[in-house]
Amino acid sequence: MLTVLSSFDDPLSKNNPQSLRTWHDSLAESIRDPEVLLAKLGLPPEYLAPARAAAQLFPLRVPLSFVARMQAGDPNDPLLRQVLPIQHELQATAGFTTDAVGDCSSRRAPGLLHKYHGRALLIVTGSCAVHCRYCFRRHYPYESEPRRLDDWKPAWDLLEADQSIHEVLLSGGDPMMLTDGRLKALIERLAEIPHVKRLRIHSRLPIVLPDRITAPLLELLTGTRLTPIMVVHANHPQEIVNDCDEALRKLVRAGITTLNQTVLLQGINDRVETLENLSERLIDTGVIPYYLHQLDRVDGAAHFEVSTATGCELIKQLQKRLPGYAVPRYVQEIEGAAHKIGVEAD
Ligand SMILES: *Cc1c(COP(=O)(O)O)cnc(C)c1O
Ligand code: SF4
Repeated sequence: MLTVLSSFDDPLSKNNPQSLRTWHDSLAESIRDPEVLLAKLGLPPEYLAPARAAAQLFPLRVPLSFVARMQAGDPNDPLLRQVLPIQHELQATAGFTTDAVGDCSSRRAPGLLHKYHGRALLIVTGSCAVHCRYCFRRHYPYESEPRRLDDWKPAWDLLEADQSIHEVLLSGGDPMMLTDGRLKALIERLAEIPHVKRLRIHSRLPIVLPDRITAPLLELLTGTRLTPIMVVHANHPQEIVNDCDEALRKLVRAGITTLNQTVLLQGINDRVETLENLSERLIDTGVIPYYLHQLDRVDGAAHFEVSTATGCELIKQLQKRLPGYAVPRYVQEIEGAAHKIGVEAD
């Protein structure tokens, strides 16, 4: 029964039912070589050496669906900038560390983080379909998380013993990298814990690998006694088109509460028009803008940082342009705090 968490998932497992072929194929076609990405977008070879060097620290990975939404020939394309390794990542910057949000100190058992009242988070896999260069867990010690079946026992025991936990978040890495079979076993195990009411899944797959949203997956998410909540992660309006737009609508039509979180990123979405368009596209597909995150100060991501003064000004402008529900809450994660903290103008 617990096979779901017995190991870090092999997304190319041969045991998948036929219905999962499509997204596994899409995943297998992802680009991992900077040279291939640059060639596909018609970008000059001068980007190659720094990309290769920075990819040594955190490899390039991007699905073709996401690449298809990039503008060929534009080195500053906002989607490309999220995934292309560059020279800046190699520079150490004071204040930027490998565990920017105190994940390690909130680890209660292998695979289980518990920071906030009523909610616990499971790190169910270390893998992602895309490698976001600003990722706050780009240095997370995934290799020390559970691999074998027995390793998960302390996490289950803790969840069962703590009646204050009403919501379990699946995170990673990206929890939707798990096969449906593994997700199902995991969800069934959680549903056995009476005080757990809600299942929240934090995934970027609906955005970067929309094929992942299949009919069997939707059945699985809606067929449990747990109330499902999906939190996706899009940063730019250009991401919410075509197959991605369709995948989000499928989630919403299935009755799954779907929220989006965005990371405020220099040169990518730090203009009011960009954030406004992003919110508009999201609400037009039925997705509620949830959080705008101040960048976590993770080593290698300093060049993405936008000042909180700018962030506050952007929110002020958004409030003038959008319905209240379409303005995300601008938050920051502060180590040791009881919840994500709203960023206020100084
Ligand atoms: C962000 C986070 C949550 C969820 O916080 P919300 O404010 O409810 O979205 C839960 N657990 C951990 C460890 C987190 O980092
Ligand atoms: S999908 Fe999420 S966890 Fe994975 S690299 Fe991107 S930000 Fe990090």
